[in-house]
Amino acid sequence: MANIAFVGLGNMGGPMAANLVKAGHVVRGFDLSEHSRKAAGEAGVQAVSSLADACEGATVIITMLPKGEHVLSVWSELKPSLASGTLLIDCSTIDVDSARKAHQLSAEANCHSLDAPVSGGISGAAQATLTFMAGGTQAAFDAARPILEAMGKRIVHCGGGGAGQAAKICNNMLLGISMIGACEAFALGEKLGLTHQALFDVVSTSSGQCWSVNTYCPVPGPVPTSPANRDYQPGFAAALMLKDLLLSQDAANSSGANTPLGAAAAALYREFEASGHGGTDFSGIIEMLRTK
Ligand code: NAD
Repeated sequence: MANIAFVGLGNMGGPMAANLVKAGHVVRGFDLSEHSRKAAGEAGVQAVSSLADACEGATVIITMLPKGEHVLSVWSELKPSLASGTLLIDCSTIDVDSARKAHQLSAEANCHSLDAPVSGGISGAAQATLTFMAGGTQAAFDAARPILEAMGKRIVHCGGGGAGQAAKICNNMLLGISMIGACEAFALGEKLGLTHQALFDVVSTSSGQCWSVNTYCPVPGPVPTSPANRDYQPGFAAALMLKDLLLSQDAANSSGANTPLGAAAAALYREFEASGHGGTDFSGIIEMLRTK
């Protein structure tokens, strides 16, 4: 069992750290927020009040932070005191350029590193059913796999440093686009007099089928577990979808990829957030699309 430091004990990191404890690892956790430290402490994590205390003696350091700037600041602060051979795993969703810079910091300290963003949301974090998309060397991936298995059920090695973040933003760009497409189809069906159930029964078994319809249907009724049945409480908040779409557009600009539908999806989610719906589930954008 490993001696693990976990930095960033928020909505995702808190339950992920708790699952490492359940798997028998020794986990010391740090978060700037006292509230998050307290909650993690109640779940069995040894919550400490400084980054240095969390990381002293750790052979594995995991970060789960909001953005690239936070990850780079924490990894830079740690760098002078890292023991050679430490495994650094960043599970945050961040831009590909920052992920590559983080790998560089780790290499300069003779450490192993993996970018390993997740999908599966807060319920996946709590139930240890996350999917990890990993980027880094084969050696780093092999070392990280048994640790990640305590927090998720599917772990995919996508390639070298930054490849996990690249896969994550491509997936979420497609998700944002497909959700808007699903919403437009149901809004058009309403105007044409179709019931939600009739359109669902056709689309979910025909060529329009996709996760946004079959699993996360944006209208109430056909899929009882979808947020549409609870007034669009998240789920996956629109603000987080906007964050991922903007990351995809930054990556498209810096790599020269052409993503006009990704750009349109980002503009629509920006408008939805600006109208006060950042905390609404991302499928709630159907309400804005109906009135546009
Ligand atoms: P969160 O805001 O709940 O948690 C982030 C935590 O990081 C906070 O508790 C904050 O206090 C802490 N923090 C910030 N800077 C810090 C620092 N320098 N040192 C220590 N702690 C620091 O966010 P979250 O929902 O847990 O998301 C974390 C990451 O996971 C994000 O990158 C997000 O995009 C990604 N993600 C979230 C979801 C989701 O459904 N919430 C799903 C997949 C991926």
